[in-house]
Amino acid sequence: MRTLNGWTGGPVDRWTGLRIDVRVALGLVTALGLVGTLAVAQTPRLTMTPSRPGGGTLTRLTIDRIAGHADSVVSVVGEMAGEPLHFLDAGKGGDKLQALGAIPVEVSDSVVANVVMTRASGKSDTLRLKLPYPHQAPPPPAMGSRGRAPGARRLRVDPRFTARPDSATEARVEHENELAREVGRKAQDTPALWEAPFARPRSARVTSKFGSGRVFNGRVSSSHLGVDYRGALGDPIYAANRGVVALVDTFFLAGNVVYINHGNGLVTGYFHMSQPEVAIGDTVEKGQEIGKVGATGRVTGPHLHWSARFGALTIDPADLLSLGPPFVTASAPAKGAGHSTAAARKRSTTPVAQR
Ligand SMILES: [Zn+2]
Repeated sequence: MRTLNGWTGGPVDRWTGLRIDVRVALGLVTALGLVGTLAVAQTPRLTMTPSRPGGGTLTRLTIDRIAGHADSVVSVVGEMAGEPLHFLDAGKGGDKLQALGAIPVEVSDSVVANVVMTRASGKSDTLRLKLPYPHQAPPPPAMGSRGRAPGARRLRVDPRFTARPDSATEARVEHENELAREVGRKAQDTPALWEAPFARPRSARVTSKFGSGRVFNGRVSSSHLGVDYRGALGDPIYAANRGVVALVDTFFLAGNVVYINHGNGLVTGYFHMSQPEVAIGDTVEKGQEIGKVGATGRVTGPHLHWSARFGALTIDPADLLSLGPPFVTASAPAKGAGHSTAAARKRSTTPVAQR
């Protein structure tokens, strides 16, 4: 059997501050009760890769050591950072399940994943994984915040976007953020609509990566929550993967936007377009042209800003490009894997039915 580290090819975790705190309450009780009468089944284990993810990272959660139990797993329900976890079969013999999860951009103190595995007998195992993070003070006042912006007097250019917004603009930006979060929530109730790996939305050079510090008029206002690709006015923008167009709109900061719901919690957004070429409800294929590069919204020139979400959480879109099995199809959920996904989805289907 491969170990987690063997599977990821990564180095052994040297970060001793990371306590993978897995409590398998009932499993332990059962094992103790049966000592001497039955072979003791392995204890299921919940782990995460990468083992020390920063804010905005799309992570992979793994439950292994499941097999060897006469009492088979009939459902797996999980949650991390407020988002449901959809577990898929990821190994032979149902010994391993994997799900995507995300670390909030402004992560502070800790992130906790909770998973409940229910077995045919009705017994359940509770697995918990807690990642500690430093305490972060709330972010400095920025667009959309009502706090004072101490650097505001030093603004030199671009006053429309860097001056403190009036209340109508604040309300507009918050409303637009909410629309984008809602697309993410809808994606958590949509099965994966893609089979192939994700691809870059342009073949052009990346001019700004995710998270790089941003200075507007001498003041660091926020981290960069996407990846920028070079482009001239009218250059094509391609869908990163198959999905359904969930939003086409004109936002104050992002300009003309297209959001694609790819399912399994994943959404990609394409900002500052001169011209969207798709409509809400369209199914788009990977690599299909969805619009043209533009300079609408808060920009200094034409380019594509590519964003991504897992549910309501913003993630680095570059993390999508390395997604492999079981999320990318070749070894998509095998027959018989339905138990885990169906059960995991059941949980989130109820509240989001509206809209
Ligand atoms: Zn950008």
